[in-house]
Amino acid sequence: MPKTGVILKPGREKSLLQYHPWVFSGAIDQVPSSVQDGEVVDLYSARGTFLARGYYNSRSQIAVRALTFSEEEKIDAEFFRRRIQKAYQYRHIHLGLRDTEAYRLINSEGDYLPGLIVDKYGKFLVVQILTLGMEKLKDLWLPTLMASVDFQGIYERSDLSVRKLEGLPERAGPLAGEVPDQILIEEDGVQFWVDVKKGQKTGFFLDQRVNRRIVGLHGRHRVCLNAFGYTGGFALHLLKNGARQVLHLDASSAGNTLAVHNAEANGVASRLSIDTADAFERLRDYLAQKRTFDLIVLDPPAFAKGLGALRRAARGYKDLNLLAFKLLDPGGVLATFSCSQHIDAKLFRQIIWEASVDARREARILQTLQASPDHAVNLNFPEGEYLKGLLLVMEN
Ligand code: SAH
Repeated sequence: MPKTGVILKPGREKSLLQYHPWVFSGAIDQVPSSVQDGEVVDLYSARGTFLARGYYNSRSQIAVRALTFSEEEKIDAEFFRRRIQKAYQYRHIHLGLRDTEAYRLINSEGDYLPGLIVDKYGKFLVVQILTLGMEKLKDLWLPTLMASVDFQGIYERSDLSVRKLEGLPERAGPLAGEVPDQILIEEDGVQFWVDVKKGQKTGFFLDQRVNRRIVGLHGRHRVCLNAFGYTGGFALHLLKNGARQVLHLDASSAGNTLAVHNAEANGVASRLSIDTADAFERLRDYLAQKRTFDLIVLDPPAFAKGLGALRRAARGYKDLNLLAFKLLDPGGVLATFSCSQHIDAKLFRQIIWEASVDARREARILQTLQASPDHAVNLNFPEGEYLKGLLLVMEN
């Protein structure tokens, strides 16, 4: 007897057999008429072999996101309990993170929970729901999350434009308990105020946690530029490690105000100066003024949101890095990042190399950088590896 479920076109099962969780709408042959958007469905090959179980959305280009590849595994509260437990243990056992720290607890596909992000700021959780399927499964995972993790409050920050692609409105607000407007966290001995309700993303760029520590160690005695600095993440680590001066540059005045508060909280405000401006313009101004730096951090937002914007984005990264190379003293250090998913590590490195050649500067790679490991990445889901960075030292 044929089983009911979503049936793929002949030969389109390969990625699912490789445990990749996405099924694009073009790969689908038949969807039973009873299936509603957001509903959990079984996926079968054209020959009728079970492939995966996931949730369906006809509005999205990613028509199904797989939750499990096992036919026996039901999508119930117990399923979410196992997944959340696994995510928690991975952070605690393998990464040695403690409950008091700030880190990503659930990283969507990286934790086999596509569409769900949970960031943990000590006793407070901030949740992002990216897909209709996860939205509809909320009555299963939210009580399970609340029962699995010790918390004082949970806040939702689903005010994300990507939800439009799923036919979902943007939303933000409390989910459980009380969450203060600002939360004080500590990261490697540096204190930060995090604005979880109005800040960017869930309030803090937790993906740069380990990189802030690595880059911070190069701060000693240096005059630094923290471009795209947000609330002072890299700047504060550099200052705590003995940087002489840090110039923090960002276009957002809300982030810059918090950066000043953070510098005050750490007793280093006298060595921090703030420039509220467009980084492209300002780097050119600094060059015209013949200013130089011993260390520069470039951590721009994602320029390439879609594949179409790739060339323009590559140009943007090259321009920025070219300016940074010109502004660095010999022996200086450049920490440069891209969080554009469509610019992979190879292309990123090529762009940085081209910028160095155009600037007539030579550099050595001290370290290649990536997102902190609490932003779990699966071997079978390379899309999860969006953040890449290079730590370079100038040879001339
Ligand atoms: N490095 C930071 C995170 C940076 S996020 C940390 O560790 O916390 C990227 C930042 O770039 C945001 O704060 C955003 O306000 C800023 N930004 C975006 N476009 C900009 C531009 N053209 N000029 C200056 N800042 C910009």
